[in-house]
Amino acid sequence: MTVGRFAPSPSGRMHLGNLMTALLAWLSAKHCGGRIVLRIEDLDTDRCLPEYVRQIEADFRTLGLVWDEGGSDGGSNGPYFQSGRGERYAAALKKLEEQGLVYPCFCTRAQLHAASAPHREDGQAVYPGTCRSLTPAQAAARQRETERPPALRLRVPDKEIAFTDGRMGLYRENLARECGDFLLRRSDGLWAYQLAVVVDDAAMGVTEVVRGSDLLSSTPRQLLLYDLLGLPAPRFIHSPLLLAADGRRLSKRERDLSLDVLLAGSTPEAVIGKLAYLAGFHPSARPCTPPELLAEFAWDKVPTGDLTVPKGLF
Ligand code: GLU
Repeated sequence: MTVGRFAPSPSGRMHLGNLMTALLAWLSAKHCGGRIVLRIEDLDTDRCLPEYVRQIEADFRTLGLVWDEGGSDGGSNGPYFQSGRGERYAAALKKLEEQGLVYPCFCTRAQLHAASAPHREDGQAVYPGTCRSLTPAQAAARQRETERPPALRLRVPDKEIAFTDGRMGLYRENLARECGDFLLRRSDGLWAYQLAVVVDDAAMGVTEVVRGSDLLSSTPRQLLLYDLLGLPAPRFIHSPLLLAADGRRLSKRERDLSLDVLLAGSTPEAVIGKLAYLAGFHPSARPCTPPELLAEFAWDKVPTGDLTVPKGLF
């Protein structure tokens, strides 16, 4: 059985792009009789607020994007809030440590920015490996100099990791060259998204990950973790990003096409119908509910690039 998931970060009200991803995840799982798990990705406890969780769940319900398990409804694979799953991440970290693949990193954000390392497309610097080869004595000395606990990084192999995305096709990356050793835990103790998402998708039985294509380049790191942790990897399908008419990516911070504005001036069915039209599998922008789209939905109708939201459509 296909198990898909919604994995919202409750750091604001959802925008139209988040909703597009959720609609596609729901249709993709449901059109083959599958289930949807709702996991709340609230690792960043400063930015994630309970009122946004309530709002996200209310938005999903209003729009007819019903989930089968998780969120504040709970279920047998809980907890479904990442803030309550620290022990699981610690157990996975231990497995990686036992393989000798984890090391402490004392670099500050400012040092990482200042390093002349190349930058990735997503703006992140490729980690230059500054702390990779510290001996235990050197690490202890660095620890005495710094006032905070170190971050923890995973040693990545110098080999290509490739996979076929369900919408975007073949994607490959050499992590050593294009990413560098990546974070598993930050120096302030927060668990890294890459580790948490792998542990959780595996523990919750997720077989199909549908998420925005801004996360395509995270997938090789996650595939490496699945492999090292001996967990079965799901199928990945990265959904199109929505761009505003001026070409900018929608953002929660800018409150672009935020659902409060959209739903205030329209009906849930009108928003869903327009989204499905924009995604290429609904012949007109006619209002409809998610179940009414099941017969029309197919991934091969969804374009492989980003989608610009035409002025005036919403
Ligand atoms: N929590 C992430 C977001 O809201 C999604 C992560 C994922 O789907 O893997 O953008």
